[in-house]
Amino acid sequence: MLEIKDLHVCVEEDPSEKILKGVNLTINEGEIHAIMGPNGSGKSTLSKVVAGHEAYEVTQGDILYNGESILDLEADERAHLGIFLAFQYPVEVPGVTNKNLLRQAYNTIAEEQGREELDPLQFEDHAREQLKLVDMKEEFLERSVNAGFSGGEKKRNEIFQMAVLQPKLSFLDETDSGLDIDALKIVANGINELSGEDNAVVLVTHYQRILDYVQPDHVHVMIDGKIAKSGDKDLAIKLEEQGYDWLTDTVSVNG
Ligand code: ADP
Ligand code: MG
Ligand code: MG
Repeated sequence: MLEIKDLHVCVEEDPSEKILKGVNLTINEGEIHAIMGPNGSGKSTLSKVVAGHEAYEVTQGDILYNGESILDLEADERAHLGIFLAFQYPVEVPGVTNKNLLRQAYNTIAEEQGREELDPLQFEDHAREQLKLVDMKEEFLERSVNAGFSGGEKKRNEIFQMAVLQPKLSFLDETDSGLDIDALKIVANGINELSGEDNAVVLVTHYQRILDYVQPDHVHVMIDGKIAKSGDKDLAIKLEEQGYDWLTDTVSVNG
C-alpha cells in the first residue's frame, strides 16, 4: 500500500535543515504499525510529509502509494486517495460546526472512495453511529470546531474523524499522549475497531503505553531522521524497559 524509499526531507524554507535522512518503510493493507522514537527524531515530519504538508521538501527518495508516486500530489489529492492525518485546528472556528466540517470532508473524498455523497440527514446518521465508538455525546457534532475541546476530546475527535472518513491509510500522531487511562482505552478501542483487512494504521507515539491495548504488527524506532530498528511488539517492550540509548549507540557505531 505505502512504500517509502530512501526518503530525505528538509524544511522548505531552510534547505540546510535536514530532518529525514533516508527513511525506508513498507506498509501493507491490514497492518498496524507503530513508529516510536525520542522527541525531535522526525516522527511527526514523516507523517506530515506522507500527508503532503507544504512546509517540507523531499530532496531524495520517493513515496509510493499503491505503486505510484504521490510526491507531486497536493495534500487534498492525497486525502482523496484515502490517506488520513487527523486535522487539527489551532483555533476555534466560530459558526462552523464539527458536523458540517466533517460532512464537507466526507463528501469531498466520497466519489474517489467509491461512496455516495451524503445529505445533512444521512450524514448525521452516519456521524452519530461513529460517535458511539469514541463515547462522545451527540451535542459534540453541533459544537463549533474546537470550541472548548478538552485535551482528551481533541484526541478522541481524531479517532472520530477517522471513523467518519474511513480512510485507507491513517496516521495518528501522538493520539495517545496526555490521555487518562479511560480515554486511552476508548482511543485504543476505536483504533482496533477501525483497523481491518483493507486499511492500515500508523501509530506515531513516544510512549509504549497505548501498545498495551493496540497490537501493532510492526514496531519501528526512528532516531535522528532514520528508522534505526524495526521489529515486533517485543521491540516496544524492550524500549519501555531500556529506553532509546542502546539504539542511539548502535546508530553512532554504524555511522
Ligand atoms: P518528532 O515528531 O519525532 O518529535 P518532528 O518531526 O516534530 O519530531 O521534528 C524533527 C526535527 O525537525 C526537530 O528538530 C524539529 O525542530 C525539526 N522541524 C520539524 N518541522 C520543522 C519546521 N517546519 N521548521 C523547522 N524545523 C522543523
Ligand atoms: Mg490487522
Ligand atoms: Mg511529533
